[in-house]
Amino acid sequence: MNTTLTANKHIVILGGGTAGWMAANLMAAKWQKIGIQITLVESPAIGTIGVGEGSTPQLKSFFDQIGVEEHEWMPACNATYKNGIRFNGWSSRPGFESYFHPFASRIDAFSAPALFYNSIHRRKGINVDCHPDRFYLSAKLAEQHKTPIPDHNFPFPIGYGYHFDANLLGQFLANKGIAKGVKHIQGKVLNVGMQTNGDIANLQLDDGNTIIGDIFVDCSGFNGVLIQKALKVPFVSFKDNLFNDSAVAIPSPTSQPLRSQTISTTMKYGWAWDIPLTNRVGNGYVYSSQHCTAEQAEIELRTKLNLLDSEVAARHLKMKVGRVEKHWYRNCLAVGLSQGFIEPLEATALHFVQETIEGFIEANEKSNFSNTHQDEFNQQINQRFEGIRDYIVAHYRLSSRDDTDYWRENSANPHISNQLKRIVKGWMAAEDITQTIQQAKIQSYYPPFSWLCILSGYGIFPEQLSDVPQDNVAHKYDLDYVDDFIQRSSLNFNDHKTFLDLHY
Ligand SMILES: Cc1cc2nc3c(=O)[nH]c(=O)nc-3n(C[C@H](O)[C@H](O)[C@H](O)COP(=O)(O)OP(=O)(O)OC[C@H]3O[C@@H](n4cnc5c(N)ncnc54)[C@H](O)[C@@H]3O)c2cc1C
Repeated sequence: MNTTLTANKHIVILGGGTAGWMAANLMAAKWQKIGIQITLVESPAIGTIGVGEGSTPQLKSFFDQIGVEEHEWMPACNATYKNGIRFNGWSSRPGFESYFHPFASRIDAFSAPALFYNSIHRRKGINVDCHPDRFYLSAKLAEQHKTPIPDHNFPFPIGYGYHFDANLLGQFLANKGIAKGVKHIQGKVLNVGMQTNGDIANLQLDDGNTIIGDIFVDCSGFNGVLIQKALKVPFVSFKDNLFNDSAVAIPSPTSQPLRSQTISTTMKYGWAWDIPLTNRVGNGYVYSSQHCTAEQAEIELRTKLNLLDSEVAARHLKMKVGRVEKHWYRNCLAVGLSQGFIEPLEATALHFVQETIEGFIEANEKSNFSNTHQDEFNQQINQRFEGIRDYIVAHYRLSSRDDTDYWRENSANPHISNQLKRIVKGWMAAEDITQTIQQAKIQSYYPPFSWLCILSGYGIFPEQLSDVPQDNVAHKYDLDYVDDFIQRSSLNFNDHKTFLDLHY
């Protein structure tokens, strides 16, 4: 950061959900020292969405930037470690009914090249093992219910995310932000005052107070109070690409043993998440209201959880899937659900929140708090939305579940991007997936190994095996060595629950 930068500005954040408090903490950590004041306004009467319990590895760097360590925040949020996501029931191809999407780690360089290699030859019809679970240490750690934190002498860090209670995380971040000097106001915004040039001038609250600011951050959730309602930035819906628009969430008792992975299982009209916390399991069913009612979804989820006769309440939620055309418009930045949402299948929303705030901070520091980089910023965020959307769409297009209209319509859905068509075509032509993804310049949204895992994890291979001699190919990588390497590496990691009990 430019050390001579000073800015006598007032940033007003509307919304006290995870997005609002993440923005407040990151901006306070970076900018309070240069003279910026931050105020956060929220309405307890409206409340927060209170879901969003899984993260990507990016969240660790958020806590690092605000100076908070795992032993402080994890116990406060009933948090657990996440090695990745297991997908159950998405493919019915024999041997591929379940696969694991790991987070990337440097140690994968010893085992994953065999999968990259084998997958090319399997697509040429040669009978080599290509199930991704065999090639990633994280998959083994998840299978063994282990933490991703190695013993001291193990020289490789492992990529990991977290599971946490969204409400507790919100409270934790609120306390941190307030302690850092963020001014916290409770009240409902009834009106947004505008300047003559079209910028936002102030927020007018239900108690008669008015809050004036220079920069406004819209974290008002699906309401989009500033970006969508006041500034009228259009919303680009993804409903043609992704059918799910509703969810129902029901907690269940803690899992034994304590898992270190999210599980995503297909349901009749969508899929269910299973997120293990230290004190409960978070469950939810994400579904399409065009295909089933809220009541049907709740019964299907309760049946899956064995909670049909339980009095534990269910929470029903609506989701608006898509993005705004511009995330930074005039003097307003939209962050979180107000800027858009892609359904939670890969738990990417908080990752987006963090990247949006970080990108905004960088763009302002580069331009001394002007709008010089606004267009470039919006373009990058939009491309990221589209890149992530395509990966999520791939789950539905590649799925071979076909027992309901929902699944049949998904796999026949013509609304897929040219980019996604190109990836699948390249895969079927036995192209090197790394080259395909790099040529498309989309490796920063989902890297080649993620595409490799989804395509090989669903068993997207020709059924017909070739009758050409196979020995050289089959023996290039010794898979017994891969198994042994992964098994022995896993001995350096401890049981998830034992680790959490001991350290936190
Ligand atoms: C079913 C589901 C599952 C999800 N799972 C995941 C997941 O696993 N991982 C992940 O990363 N994300 C997930 N998400 C997304 C995640 O929940 C959100 O990105 C995250 O909680 C941030 O929400 P938010 O802060 O933008 O909005 P909210 O939590 O809705 O907060 C909005 C805030 O704005 C305030 N507000 C609104 N209007 C006004 C007004 N007029 N005046 C004053 N205050 C106002 C509200 O009071 C509230 O404080 C999921 C979302 C859904 C719907």
